[in-house]
Amino acid sequence: MTGEPGGSGEGPCSVINRNSIQVRSLRKAAILDRDGVLNDNRRPVNRPEELHLFADAARAVRMLNEAGLLVLVATNQGGVGLGYLSAPQLARIHAAMVAQLAAAGARIDGIAACIHRPDAGCSCRKPRPGLLLQLRDQFHLDLRASYMVGDRAVDIEAGRAAGTKTVGIGREAGPLADYAAISLWDAARWICADAAKSDGRQTPMLTSAHTVTQERMTER
Ligand SMILES: [Zn+2]
Repeated sequence: MTGEPGGSGEGPCSVINRNSIQVRSLRKAAILDRDGVLNDNRRPVNRPEELHLFADAARAVRMLNEAGLLVLVATNQGGVGLGYLSAPQLARIHAAMVAQLAAAGARIDGIAACIHRPDAGCSCRKPRPGLLLQLRDQFHLDLRASYMVGDRAVDIEAGRAAGTKTVGIGREAGPLADYAAISLWDAARWICADAAKSDGRQTPMLTSAHTVTQERMTER
């Protein structure tokens, strides 16, 4: 039995809901691209055995967990639409990924995948923001206080289109993003520092105002 109507019921997160003002009930997330961010993508990943997580993936995710952010994955998997793997195979790959991270104490809270053909013109394939909007609705995210992390330009574009802050890992995405990271660990460190800074303000609706302290809501 849960005390929160419609609550996600995901463990420690439900603690903050009861006495909080409405704006605080929206959650912050680190939304991670999968291939090239969590796992090596130099070869295609069509089966669980082909998934090779980067060495720093678990500790980066764990750091984000411990900072109180939801950790979500938004991934283009056009190979399903193209017939390289089936939707159940993709689900098995993701189950393996979640299990391997969990074994190292790291929690993935949710995964959204676009499985349409790259040429399908769907609204969810990055650079479009559809996956991020799905996650927003499912997890009650404040996208302006959330972060999209990717290694490709399309990840940064999707983040911007959805209104998140952006972190680019590597040469392609780094220069386009709010923060250019050299690794997922570096990205996680920056996100945790930035999220802690903005926690002091607690006014995610006022992104461009520098007068936020005047608008600050009392928490009593
Ligand atoms: Zn799609």
